Amino acid sequence: MNLKNSKFYKRIQELRHFSKEKIRKDREQRTRVVRALDMAFSEQPCKDREWFSPGQSPSQQPSSPRRRRGKKFRGFKKRASAGKEINDVSPYYEQSSGENSPMPETDSKLEGFIQLNNTTYRVECPVRIVSPPKNDNVQRVASDTKSTICVSNSRYAMIGKISKTLGYKLVKESKMWNILWSDSFPGVELFKNMKRFQQINHFPGMIEICRKDLLSRNLNRMLKLFPQDYKIFPKTWMLPADYGDAMSYALNHKRTFILKPDSGAQGRGIWLTNDLKTIGPHERLICQTYIHRPLLIDGYKFDLRVYTLITSVDPLRIFVYNEGLARFATNKYVEPTPGNSNDLYMHLTNYSVNKRNSHYELCDNDDCGSKRKLSAINNWMRRHNYDVEEFWSNVDDVIIKTVMSAWPVLKHNYHACFPGHDKIQACFEILGFDILVDWKLKPYILEVNHSPSFHTNEQVDREVKRPLIRDTLNLVSTVLADKRQILKEDRKRVKQRLLKIRGEPPVQRPRLGGGTSKGKIDIQKSNPEANPVIEVETEDKGPLAQQIAWEESHLGNFRKIMPPPDSTKVDYYTRFYAQSNQVSIFAETAASKKREDLARKMRIQIEEKNAKQQQMLNGKTKREARKRLAVMLPRAVREKNRINLFRLKENWSPGFISDAEERLRHTWLHMRSEAIRTLKITENIYSNLYETGLLTNTDMVVYPHFYHNLQHGFDIRKNP
Ligand code: ADP
Repeated sequence: MNLKNSKFYKRIQELRHFSKEKIRKDREQRTRVVRALDMAFSEQPCKDREWFSPGQSPSQQPSSPRRRRGKKFRGFKKRASAGKEINDVSPYYEQSSGENSPMPETDSKLEGFIQLNNTTYRVECPVRIVSPPKNDNVQRVASDTKSTICVSNSRYAMIGKISKTLGYKLVKESKMWNILWSDSFPGVELFKNMKRFQQINHFPGMIEICRKDLLSRNLNRMLKLFPQDYKIFPKTWMLPADYGDAMSYALNHKRTFILKPDSGAQGRGIWLTNDLKTIGPHERLICQTYIHRPLLIDGYKFDLRVYTLITSVDPLRIFVYNEGLARFATNKYVEPTPGNSNDLYMHLTNYSVNKRNSHYELCDNDDCGSKRKLSAINNWMRRHNYDVEEFWSNVDDVIIKTVMSAWPVLKHNYHACFPGHDKIQACFEILGFDILVDWKLKPYILEVNHSPSFHTNEQVDREVKRPLIRDTLNLVSTVLADKRQILKEDRKRVKQRLLKIRGEPPVQRPRLGGGTSKGKIDIQKSNPEANPVIEVETEDKGPLAQQIAWEESHLGNFRKIMPPPDSTKVDYYTRFYAQSNQVSIFAETAASKKREDLARKMRIQIEEKNAKQQQMLNGKTKREARKRLAVMLPRAVREKNRINLFRLKENWSPGFISDAEERLRHTWLHMRSEAIRTLKITENIYSNLYETGLLTNTDMVVYPHFYHNLQHGFDIRKNP
């Protein structure tokens, strides 16, 4: 019998549904009334003294609205005026303020009891409920609904905690979040399904500068186009494609090179060499000239982690955080020699490498420790008479140029992924720029991280990263999107499309970049080649103008570097936008052809090798097969295995050896040797091999007497 069809089951379902509904309605009603009354008390005290039950002395009556606020309300009952229902749960409630109230809609009376200092008061208050303004033209500066954030794709608990303190509500990914904070690049599917009020903390295409090989490719391309301007990174070759170029450079210059895996991180697989011949012609590596005279503080090499926020790619808007980290090597620096080039604690500044060194220094003071704040570095520079302002202006220049090298891809991807985002930007991103400074105070870009670490292991991390997250969340423009309004508009649009209403023109969504203007805020337009700088009207309050105004007024500890504040710099940077006109990033270059050629050759070689190995492996033992596979593993994996093995060996300690077991083992070994000797096993095998012609040269050398005897016709199996 199917229980679900029985009357009994249906009745239970009905009752459950009924009670759920009842609970929901009760709860709704209670919230509305309590909220209305709270509002009434908090904004204006009711004028009517009769609200308080007669017989209470004035001293017993609540004296100020402030004291009344926040106390417990009990047993309220809503008495709506005849035929009128309070059916709006929005916070648009107002206490009745007389005849001339601008938007009178619904009048009702609230009555109930209030408990203060163990005395119960009966209160009654006329409330006027005002509907939200129906005029869609009214622009609200910030959404009045609570913004939501999804941090479930981030491993850093700090992001969620800070969001909460800023008033964000944490939600799951399946909910209608305003912001999605993820540690990794999300898939295209997610971008495609994003609503117009949603923002995500990555830009599609940022990988163009966040992977070492792509960064090198983009910067090298820009260097060819702008040789004077793009000397912002060490000379770099992508091996194996640029193997020939690197070798010829090495022949003509006596330099040390640093070699890195093309998509590595945290200092893994990096080594120094001054002999490029040690590298195989097919190895996939990034080869860079080593900056052998870095700026040293207290004799140690260091690099800078500069946090950069991008809030828009078209127009390009970049902000740099004034505070950041300097990460120090933990062995004193000496220029590379064959003897010290293996010392990673001297040449690499990665935290992940140096934390393993016993000299890693934790320090509460600003001017010591293996990790320091940028402000401490600035102070050090000032003390040593360096021009700090000029230095940071050079760093900003490096950052702008690095981002601009990927600008055509970023712009294209953004518009392809978010054609409908017309209210706010769909993305923002915090990038971690690793900058190395040489002894002349010239900054070089080493790497860009799309998910910089937000671990807060040390006090200095907390002091830098917490305010950074807070200021970022304050600066992003999510607050400018009205979730409810957008959802309503989208529903309307879908309905229109479904009903195919004729005559009515479809609602046109303006592009976010389309402001016009009087208020003089410089921004780069979508097509900067035509007219790179335009002024956006702030009076008009187009969404972009609103965003700009919001960002300018919520900078926190950020400084805006793009668009630059200085008009001469605006002109200077404008020409880099035109890169796509000069050389298409998709066009074939000599290098790309070479790369493709090499890749094809390599593919064929790999296929041939695989086929050979397959043949060889058939019929071999499993152990041998594994051995062969291990030899074929990529360098990075082999390196990891080697280090693991090394660590294992380091930690290995001999177990307990029992004397009795040792004696037994010796006896067995002796017995085995005796058996081999008396049964003449060696002689038997040797003569068999001799007879079948399988004796090798080694056999002849190791057992010369056997060979000699066999040559002279003696049977070694019988004769001693
Ligand atoms: P990873 O992503 O593995 O950290 P990086 O490119 O950031 O790789 O390099 C790691 C460290 O090596 C840097 O922090 C820096 O100290 C050092 N380094 C990298 N490139 C150079 C270079 N060209 N000259 C001098 N030092 C370098």
